[in-house]
Amino acid sequence: MSVTPPIAPEAMLIPRKPVVSDRQNLVGLTREQLRAALVTAGTPDRQSKMREVQLWQWIYQKGVRDFDAMTNLAKEYRARLKEHFVIEVPEIVTRTVSADGTRKYLVRIAGGHEVEVVYIPEEDRGTLCISSQVGCTLTCTFCHTGTQRLVRNLTAGEIVGQIMLARDDLGEWPEPGRHPKDETRLISNIVLMGMGEPLYNFEAVRDAMQIAMDGEGISLSRRRITLSTCGVVPEIARTGSEIGCMLAISLHATTNELRNTLVPINRKYPIAQLFEALRAYPKLSNSERITFEYVMLKDVNDSDADARRLVKLIEGIPAKINLIPFNEWPGSPYERSDWDRIEAFANIVYKAGYASPIRTPRGEDIMAACGQLKSATERSRKNRFQIAAEAGLPEPERIVRRPNAPDVH
Ligand code: SAH
Repeated sequence: MSVTPPIAPEAMLIPRKPVVSDRQNLVGLTREQLRAALVTAGTPDRQSKMREVQLWQWIYQKGVRDFDAMTNLAKEYRARLKEHFVIEVPEIVTRTVSADGTRKYLVRIAGGHEVEVVYIPEEDRGTLCISSQVGCTLTCTFCHTGTQRLVRNLTAGEIVGQIMLARDDLGEWPEPGRHPKDETRLISNIVLMGMGEPLYNFEAVRDAMQIAMDGEGISLSRRRITLSTCGVVPEIARTGSEIGCMLAISLHATTNELRNTLVPINRKYPIAQLFEALRAYPKLSNSERITFEYVMLKDVNDSDADARRLVKLIEGIPAKINLIPFNEWPGSPYERSDWDRIEAFANIVYKAGYASPIRTPRGEDIMAACGQLKSATERSRKNRFQIAAEAGLPEPERIVRRPNAPDVH
């Protein structure tokens, strides 16, 4: 089933500009697409499988971008490849490193658009948070990315390319013949929790994640990949059957009334429908739980009654509840719940038998925390009046300039 994203009236869906070079980028092609491309470029059919595997290994296991470095290919064949193809990943424009070690990359993709990628090192893992769209059409009222007007889907190459560029920056291409175990890798986990709604860009996300999971690709276990969605119900079953990764749901509210304002897609796919799809998600078990993300907004969704409703909703689903203290951004219409409130909420959920970790904000000093992503250079943004109107909040006070008063910025 195909899904049409609800597009906020202010959002503009921008077509991708044609790639300047007429050579095709090999990054992001599925194995079948790569093979077909090689045959079109003159590779004999009977060799195409072998070439596909060789190229795949050079690109995804060794991080090679230059055909001349592919020493197991004949010189003439390398020349032919160079004529037709390139191996390109998005370009890092800036890299900001937080006091806590979190790294935020501003990354430029074709057409000059930008997305953000965040690397979060922890003691037992390293998580890369990647983006699936420039901006986002969802307009969740507490999320900074939703205030960006421009939206475009990333290609599979731009999605898997984010993993590759982070590996470049971290110096993590394994030495030939050495395959570090997942746990000792700098990038051991991938979360699709950056900019965009991954299930509104399903095919590209799927193809990119297939490469990330392939033993001859980036080679990460499907259990180390988590796709976060606001709940695009028709695509949830497909995520299970065609990707098979772990699922995180941006729940944030326990009644339709409140969820309709916080996560407007709820008007299309209300809570009951969402939970029906979740209960049918394959392989659900205690070791493969669904993560529910719940942003803690002061006096909005953080009462004891909310916590109890939450427990009731998830009953019977192997689940973990990730409580996210609200991260503020310029013009944000909410406040973070008090710490005591967050702990009391967590306690109710925990006592009901669910893990309820409170997500420590990481990289706040560099605006890399959840919901703060938004390319700094993106000037076309909604103003605070539009943000408040969408959140159903009273109009902010207008700043009245009196003659001779100092300028207010
Ligand atoms: N569109 C997908 C992927 C984004 S994941 C989704 O909705 O799941 C980013 C997570 O951070 C989501 O759970 C989102 O709801 C949450 N988030 C957004 N803004 C936030 C903020 N200001 N503070 C804390 N969490 C936020």
